[in-house]
Amino acid sequence: MDLDVVRYVIRRRLEGGLLPQGRMMKVKDTSGGGQMCDACGANITEDQSAMVGATLEGGRRTRHFHALCFRIWDNERHLLLLDRRSV
Ligand SMILES: [Zn+2]
Repeated sequence: MDLDVVRYVIRRRLEGGLLPQGRMMKVKDTSGGGQMCDACGANITEDQSAMVGATLEGGRRTRHFHALCFRIWDNERHLLLLDRRSV
């Protein structure tokens, strides 16, 4: 998938409250098992790296991200928080 598209999707989901803005706890680096990526909506296949963890938002449910989507999400949520502070 196009990185700019993924970044855009993640940003929209963060702004719309569909993705958590708080940090993720107990993050584990693992391999995919066909779960849906919370960030981009695509499946994480066995040959891809996955980041699995929980956030306080959304009832501490377990989230699955592609390793790359996780990095983009982590970056975008920080940018979003910086934006809010400067208002
Ligand atoms: Zn993804």
